[in-house]
Amino acid sequence: MKIRLVLIIILSNVFLSLYPQIVNLKPLSERITGYKLDVRLNPDKKTVTGDMQAFWVNRSADTVPDIRLHLYMNAFRSNRTTMYREMGGSPGNDEKDLGWIEINSFSDKNGADLIPRMQYISPDDGNRDDRTVLRVLLPQPAMPGDTVIINVNFETKLPSRIRRTGYSGDFYFVAQWFPKFGVYEPAGMRYASKGGWNCHQFHATSEFYSNHSVYDVRITLPASHVVGSGGMLISEKADGNMKTVTYRAEDIVDFAWTAWPGYAVFNDKWKNVNITLLMPKDRVKQAGRQLSSVKHALEYLDMNVGPYPWPHLTFVDPPNIGAGAGGMEYTTLFTSSSSYFVPPFFHMPEMVTVHEFGHAYFMGMLASNEFEEPWLDEGVNSYWEEKIMDTYYGNNSGLIDHRFLKFSDVSSARVSYVTSPSRQLVSNNEYSWNYPHGTYGMMSYQKTAIWLHTLEGIIGTETMNNVFREYYRRWAFKHPSGRDFINVVNDVVRKEHGQEFGPDMNWFFDQTLYGTGICDYKVSGIVNSKYSKPEGKTDTADAEVRAWSSTDSLYISKAQLERVGEVKLPVDVLIHFDNGDEVLERWDGKERYKDFEYKGYKQIVWVKIDPEYKIKMDVDYVNNSMTTEPSKAPLHRIANKIMTFTQFFLSIMLL
Ligand SMILES: [Zn+2]
Repeated sequence: MKIRLVLIIILSNVFLSLYPQIVNLKPLSERITGYKLDVRLNPDKKTVTGDMQAFWVNRSADTVPDIRLHLYMNAFRSNRTTMYREMGGSPGNDEKDLGWIEINSFSDKNGADLIPRMQYISPDDGNRDDRTVLRVLLPQPAMPGDTVIINVNFETKLPSRIRRTGYSGDFYFVAQWFPKFGVYEPAGMRYASKGGWNCHQFHATSEFYSNHSVYDVRITLPASHVVGSGGMLISEKADGNMKTVTYRAEDIVDFAWTAWPGYAVFNDKWKNVNITLLMPKDRVKQAGRQLSSVKHALEYLDMNVGPYPWPHLTFVDPPNIGAGAGGMEYTTLFTSSSSYFVPPFFHMPEMVTVHEFGHAYFMGMLASNEFEEPWLDEGVNSYWEEKIMDTYYGNNSGLIDHRFLKFSDVSSARVSYVTSPSRQLVSNNEYSWNYPHGTYGMMSYQKTAIWLHTLEGIIGTETMNNVFREYYRRWAFKHPSGRDFINVVNDVVRKEHGQEFGPDMNWFFDQTLYGTGICDYKVSGIVNSKYSKPEGKTDTADAEVRAWSSTDSLYISKAQLERVGEVKLPVDVLIHFDNGDEVLERWDGKERYKDFEYKGYKQIVWVKIDPEYKIKMDVDYVNNSMTTEPSKAPLHRIANKIMTFTQFFLSIMLL
């Protein structure tokens, strides 16, 4: 043990001094944490065991007495952990089913044993059965600028009931598997009024929050297994039945890997990005679909948000036995989801691939706190996923493109939002696990995506793209908060539209992100009344007398509009007259009732609020339009019925 400690001390120094040489000359992110892992997969025990050397630099002005680490795998330790209490169910009762992580040794760079200084804490809920956060009191506090180096020997047991991570037979998806630093937030960062560790427990609905890190990972495992990870393969050495693979990754927030003998491997390239796809051999016919969808996403986000900054990406379509690992992101590694046969008109695998790839931007690069503001990742990413799918697979057919049924990707988000427009807040700095009545998903994904589409409808697509270009430029690798995003929107809109929407866009966010109201605009009536002949003693103007004497009828026509919901947004109103005239009006949408009134030799035939479907938050499209009574002819009655039905169908299907 002693010899080993000395070795560790020497290695620590070598390790740290090596860092400036192994990273990019110009790192993309500030070097705050780094990990060197040397582990072995035991296929019989389903464990990953080994050494970790890691550093954390105190970049704050605070004197920090402790460090905090996530031990996510302990969420699978029993059915009493916070994750299982929140989601119900159980990881199983048998040792082979459970997941956990044990710390065998823990020392600092001087070799001091830190095990007696370890304490499991549950800052979120006080649950003593939860061991997913470890606090270690340092022998000496970390002063500003200090680097804390830790040496840990650990054993991770993978769970059998895969929930993102685990094993099934000889399939492994190894994520959230090593002791990982929380984020020390200096005073003023995001919402931190005073400095402190932001290190939450593992929850059922929450995802993660990390510094960008450097990873050097050596994995020894059975030689028969095909391995994929978020790093670049540096070397691969066989040794009998086993092999050792070495990876390096820079500027990513998490390092996960997978191993399975059944993978087929495809390599492709987009610009300078090397793409690797791992998929089950019985699905290789879908490789083209998968690869082209990821290239669409690369192209679209590069064009409209900013460049993809890493030289590689790996994505995995897990086999059926590992389906629980599907649909998850680890920056330069992500998992899609498919099955043996998916008809070409159903773009589900493409959608999952586009979505999970998109996280490389919003979870990987911008890397906001998903525990506290999940919408900044899932909602923003869903918005882009929907735009990409509907751009490349058809405006009305992004998700389903069949002769008899077409369905756009944005419609699927809109339909789920409008059929359940919960009045929960998207964000009130709510913790991800605190959304009541299962509203986390609806608020973080669909409602956010839908209000982002609505914002695009109001400020225009080009301004929206410029918002994201600026957001990327200002905040990539810097962990922005929701307020940072809003400031970017305000700055870009002010620059491009002046005062068109007011001094800022806060009125929009107060209602959609920080408000609970729903949006619903309605045409409540169309009135065409004949302008009656002047009678009695009047001072009728000459023009009116002339009008009356003409053979045509003069009408006063009114389009009567109503704001049914609480949300007030500017809307366009298209009014069509019987002589073919059309008028496009703009209503600020603030009053409860609004009339547009016209006088002329024409009557209003139909009125349509938001004819271009810009306000996707409007929960009821059917009441957005109205036509005047059609002729009594039976044919017209049928036509009217068909039109009403089509309107309803359109409202749920097309937009
Ligand atoms: Zn997602």
